[in-house]
Amino acid sequence: MTTHFPHLLAPLDLGFTQLRNRVLMGSMHTGLEDRAADFPKLATYFAERAAGGVGLMVTGGFAPNIVGWLKPFAGRLSLPWHVRRHRQVTEAVHAHDGKICLQLLHAGRYAYHPLSVAPSRLKAPINPFTPRTLSARGIERTLRDFATAARLAQDAGYDGVEIMGSEGYLLNEFTVPRTNRRDDAWGGDAQRRMRFPVEIVQRVREACGPNFIVIYRLSLLDLVEDGNAWPDIVAQAKAVEAAGATILNSGIGWHEARIPTIATSVPRAAFTSVTAKLRPHVSVPLVASNRINMPAVAEAVLAAGHADMVSMARPLLADPQWVNKARDGQVQAINTCIACNQACLDHVFENKRASCLVNPRACAETELVFTRTTAPKSIAVVGAGPAGLACATVAAERGHRVTLFDAATEIGGQFNLAKRIPGKEEFHEPLRYFRHRIAETGVDLRLGTRVDAAALSGFDDVVIATGVIPRALDLPGADHAKVVRYIDVLEGRVQVGPRVAIIGAGGIGFDVAEFLVETGDSPALDPARWMTEWGVDPAFDAPGGLVKASPEPAARQVWLLQRSPGRPGARLGKTTGWIHRATLKAKGVQMLGGVEYLGVDDDGLHIRVDGGAQQTLPVDHVVVCAGQEPRRELFDVLQAQGRRVHVIGGAKLAAELDAKRAIDEGSRLAAAL
Ligand code: FAD
Ligand code: NAP
Ligand code: SF4
Repeated sequence: MTTHFPHLLAPLDLGFTQLRNRVLMGSMHTGLEDRAADFPKLATYFAERAAGGVGLMVTGGFAPNIVGWLKPFAGRLSLPWHVRRHRQVTEAVHAHDGKICLQLLHAGRYAYHPLSVAPSRLKAPINPFTPRTLSARGIERTLRDFATAARLAQDAGYDGVEIMGSEGYLLNEFTVPRTNRRDDAWGGDAQRRMRFPVEIVQRVREACGPNFIVIYRLSLLDLVEDGNAWPDIVAQAKAVEAAGATILNSGIGWHEARIPTIATSVPRAAFTSVTAKLRPHVSVPLVASNRINMPAVAEAVLAAGHADMVSMARPLLADPQWVNKARDGQVQAINTCIACNQACLDHVFENKRASCLVNPRACAETELVFTRTTAPKSIAVVGAGPAGLACATVAAERGHRVTLFDAATEIGGQFNLAKRIPGKEEFHEPLRYFRHRIAETGVDLRLGTRVDAAALSGFDDVVIATGVIPRALDLPGADHAKVVRYIDVLEGRVQVGPRVAIIGAGGIGFDVAEFLVETGDSPALDPARWMTEWGVDPAFDAPGGLVKASPEPAARQVWLLQRSPGRPGARLGKTTGWIHRATLKAKGVQMLGGVEYLGVDDDGLHIRVDGGAQQTLPVDHVVVCAGQEPRRELFDVLQAQGRRVHVIGGAKLAAELDAKRAIDEGSRLAAAL
């Protein structure tokens, strides 16, 4: 047995088959599931993760019938001619000694189409479509559809199926009083509410025989009102096991829950103790899930006896070689998922193909290929922010001679500010990863070196990745001592007073507000405090796992302002914006839109809101977070000189710039150099 992470890398014997380690790649919709033409890409995506050593993988959700579609024409496995496309996936995975299960997901009232069904006719707060009540005959049809789909998955060569029983989808909806108001044989008391999912497991087991993995994803914490109480969850787990499940996976939180469960501000492995609480009650292997992203975290969860396996989805999107690197003790080489959701979940919710902010090759494995160059060049990259780091390391990996300059004394550019925000501690990880990549690929790193055009002669190609300059204010009193830059605040050069106005409510304005209201340590580093602040029962006894939230008082009184009408934060990430808004609301931050800035003086910031009367915010400081301008003079000079020069990241376009675009542009340019 390997000495690195012995619990994580120990095989798991399921009786009829063996998993090579304890890593389950959790189900994740990529957007490649819905069209047959995308299956070669999906097969390559899974093949890379199988080659990377993952023990068992689960596909994105496939519906067992049309009413269970997540959205119109979403992936479905219900007809014999669907099978062929899936064989590409299973054969590609098995060629690397991997194992893969197909997830069967009936979307229930989360289905984004008018055919949706649910136990009762109750609309979900996050979906405009009201479901039809599933009739008793409809229930019988659905049971048959699950069995048929599982049988087709077996025909397609899958090692098993995962039955999705959590996150507020159909099966979960049947189990809780919140969404099941039936008074027939499928509703009423807890026993009758769980009957539907339990019968599905039974039918699937009967259809597929004993030598087929059946994972059941059980909602251990609904995190919604009128969710299940703990004794009901234990009873469900036992019934599902008795019905034939091979493995129980943990589901944490419904999609409509107002408690974050996977965002970067959620502490690592925050919910594994609920899996531990279930463990004495069942004998099949249990999987812990949510915010497990590094080998030491996973190892600790298993060593503490919280679970038999760990589920990771996004960390394997970020780094397909995660398991091999853990096995080889190469933890520094892991490209860590920072739980930002920006390129994975946000994309899926925007109907775009998923990818990964730190790994733009994710789900583009057949398209973005870093081949070895046959014509090595000498390349200067100016700026070691995310754009320059990605470009320099990919170009060097391809065989170019790369020199990377940065004026600062450390790599990372603005990530060095991001990592100071409470709840954004994960931003340390890409910095560690890129430090490793620079050494590994042989990039010649020159820190503390601000370069000009003269210093760049002698390179075949020059890449300008010099980032941005914060936009200065243009209003009376902009030069008053109260007016400060966000950079100076985050870097601790300015001590901010107890009353603060923030001008600009974009991503940085919100981050600065969170920085200013937080007292002491970040809740993301203290799971107990985090649960108290958000209202999660630390004993997991309360129905749905909910108790009254008790946020700590804010360290300061903060006003967060924008000129545009409407509520600030509307343009933040699709799956994370509400978390930032809720965090600031809980801390009493006043978020105002439609603000006209009239000036700053000794009395404070003078404003008008929605064209109303003039008012004064009696603040000690005004922090300017009013966006940025590109820093691209160097590009313009070199271009005028006729040099082979490229520009990426913030230096190219500051508007709407984020690290996803910066890393993507850097990687794509390097692939083409
Ligand atoms: P930068 O990161 O700005 O890097 C430019 C580099 O060039 C700097 O290191 C600078 O020192 C160097 N440089 C400039 N001129 C020269 C010169 N002449 N010679 C040598 N070196 C030079 N983005 C997200 O996607 N998600 C987030 O959650 C997120 N949070 C953020 C939080 C904060 C507080 C901040 C400030 C930013 C955040 N961002 C986030 C934005 C993200 O960090 C930027 O989009 C990204 O860093 C831009 O990358 P870049 O490489 O283009 O530029
Ligand atoms: P931003 O999102 O463009 O926001 C700039 C803010 O300043 C807006 O609220 C804008 O709103 C205001 N503004 C613009 N010009 C102004 C002016 N002349 N005077 C006063 N106010 C002005 O930029 P950012 O907040 O600086 O963030 C930079 C980038 O980093 C963003 O693109 C973002 O994607 C990324 N980022 C992302 C995250 C994340 O969590 N995903 C976090 C931080 C940063 P009004 O015009 O309405 O006033
Ligand atoms: Fe993780 Fe962000 Fe990549 Fe998604 S986009 S896998 S959350 S790093």
